[in-house]
Amino acid sequence: MLDYNIGDIVIIPVRCFTCGKIIGDVYEEYTKRYAEYQKAIKAGEKPKETPKEILDSLGLDRYCCRRMILTHVELIGESAPYE
Ligand SMILES: [Zn+2]
Repeated sequence: MLDYNIGDIVIIPVRCFTCGKIIGDVYEEYTKRYAEYQKAIKAGEKPKETPKEILDSLGLDRYCCRRMILTHVELIGESAPYE
């Protein structure tokens, strides 16, 4: 039923487990913009967009998909090589 392999899942599940929407490409875009958001927060500045607004602008309107992205980003958290 799900057509990912083990290698994909280490990085990001390519599809939403619940509805099957492809989220791999959206996820990449989200992590870039989320990194900007975190940078602003750490610098004590007002971020130009919140994670919610990023998801909205990426067209992730279903909660199942949003949850997939959000939980994954939290997992990688600080260890992500953004700097
Ligand atoms: Zn979904």
